[in-house]
Amino acid sequence: MNKKIFLYLALILLALNFFCWKEVFSLTENNYLKVDFLDVGQGDSAFIETPEKHQILIDGGPTSAVLQKLSERMPFWDKEIDLIILTHPELDHMQGLIDVLQRYRADYILWTGILRETSEYKKWASILSQNSKKVIVVSAGTKVKAGNAEIDILFPFENLAGNEVKNTNDSSIVAKLIYGKESFLFTGDISSTAEKLLANSKENILSNVLKVAHHGSKYSTSDLFLAAVAPRIAVISAGVKNTYGHPTREVLQRLQNYDITTLRTDQSGDINFVTDGNSIYITLNYEIPEIP
Ligand SMILES: [Zn+2]
Repeated sequence: MNKKIFLYLALILLALNFFCWKEVFSLTENNYLKVDFLDVGQGDSAFIETPEKHQILIDGGPTSAVLQKLSERMPFWDKEIDLIILTHPELDHMQGLIDVLQRYRADYILWTGILRETSEYKKWASILSQNSKKVIVVSAGTKVKAGNAEIDILFPFENLAGNEVKNTNDSSIVAKLIYGKESFLFTGDISSTAEKLLANSKENILSNVLKVAHHGSKYSTSDLFLAAVAPRIAVISAGVKNTYGHPTREVLQRLQNYDITTLRTDQSGDINFVTDGNSIYITLNYEIPEIP
């Protein structure tokens, strides 16, 4: 056999092999939506992958730790994220996104457009100005469709672009991810003040999984809000032995009063949800220590 023919044959075989693998891959993938609450220390970051492989990142945590988490979830050649959402421009949610946007392209970046005076905010604003066509200021009413999954922006009620707000936490984007019968509520760092506004609004905040606001601060996760959201599972993103004392005893008690299964990144590391729209499956990196 001459060398050239052999090479062609090898290439065809390789291509066939690839094709077979691809088929097996798509058969085993099913229609699962993944939501990973990333252990990024004292901050927030969640990575979502839809069945159609749309990649969505909500917040980036306080350091570049999110980069490692992404590299564990995305192939090394994939440097494009479909959607990035910054709930509010505070370091513990924003810094990791600055690092991500220096290495990855984003198709869309959603945020509230509020003004701040911090040095990290200036870095963020400068990155946005380089990506201005992809930046969208959002408020309640915006919906993002990603295949059969949908993200509804429920808060802030008004467009805050260019505003200086007194309480940055209460300007946080609150977003509900819906897939089939399952739903996840992302609350940024809102306090009970914004929670009350939401609970009394026409917005449908009922959700199966609640990302507890503000890392378990006692000024968030009010009884009123828990009753209105009625989650089965709560996720708290907080750093091990953080100086704020998050999550607080008060919030853990309130969650327990409502019989809500509570998972914590400071205890379990990354908390990974998989759902087919009917049921939710959870995998944790570490065993949850028994709570006395
Ligand atoms: Zn925070």
